[in-house]
Amino acid sequence: NNRRLYSPKYVKEILDKYGFKFSKSLGQNFLIDGNIVRKISQIANITDKDCVLEIGPGIGTLTEELALNAKKVVAVEIDEKLLPILEETLQAHDNVEIIHGDILNMDITKIIDEHMDGGPIKVVANLPYYVTTPIIAKLLEEDLNIHSIVVMVQKEVGERMIASPGSKQYGSLSVFVSFYTYPEIKMDVPKTVFMPQPKVDSVVIKLNMKEELPKVDRKVFFKVVRSAFGKRRKTILNALSSGLGVEKETIREVLESLNISTNIRAENLKIEDFIKISQTLPPLNI
Ligand code: SAM
Repeated sequence: NNRRLYSPKYVKEILDKYGFKFSKSLGQNFLIDGNIVRKISQIANITDKDCVLEIGPGIGTLTEELALNAKKVVAVEIDEKLLPILEETLQAHDNVEIIHGDILNMDITKIIDEHMDGGPIKVVANLPYYVTTPIIAKLLEEDLNIHSIVVMVQKEVGERMIASPGSKQYGSLSVFVSFYTYPEIKMDVPKTVFMPQPKVDSVVIKLNMKEELPKVDRKVFFKVVRSAFGKRRKTILNALSSGLGVEKETIREVLESLNISTNIRAENLKIEDFIKISQTLPPLNI
């Protein structure tokens, strides 16, 4: 098998052959660097026991590397113009299945049940940047039976995901991600490894799923977090009172009972603080 999917010359050739034009609105920036492709698979620690769900295979560059290491790869691609290309580029691999569709509208549990035959499930993707956050939110919120998520994202988004309390990037995305996972930035990726080159630098981030989620009503918790960060400049007392529509006096009592200063701002609260606040609030109308 001639491994050349990442050679820029080959990418141009195959795209020309099928008359393919990159779609900016679908976030199509294809990898053209074999080292990066190999490293992503290594970071995801793909072995022949694993089933991989890939989102957005493009012309199959990363898919091929995953197929060489995994038991099975199921890849969901939205752009039907890529389907005949993928058929050609991945024909040597009988452990790859391509599903046509928009990952945001698909029942991922069903994909896993119907197309993956047990074994740990790992998600790997070079994500389209226009929908990074909704895709990650969907993967985390749906209580899928997955082991880890390794994704290439815009550097700035990756930094927000792993940010700690007190830092400028810390916000509701950081709390959301660390509610479900232990996040790590694994690698910096320059713009030059993509065709066409994006405007921003990227990072590969690994989200290791928590085996047990914090014991709290998730609806209440995320409403509290969104309210707290919705008005970053306000004190936690004012932000929660206006965001949740709850009397200031009630919020003050909750915070004081937890020894949390009413003057503190959301960016200085840890995930444990948000959990305690959510557990202590009176029932909300949501
Ligand atoms: N994995 C390939 C690579 O690394 O060269 C392509 C990565 S490219 C950044 C993102 C891919 O996701 C494109 O192939 C694009 O068509 C696809 N895509 C965009 N939005 C999608 C969606 N909502 N569901 C599934 N695939 C999507």
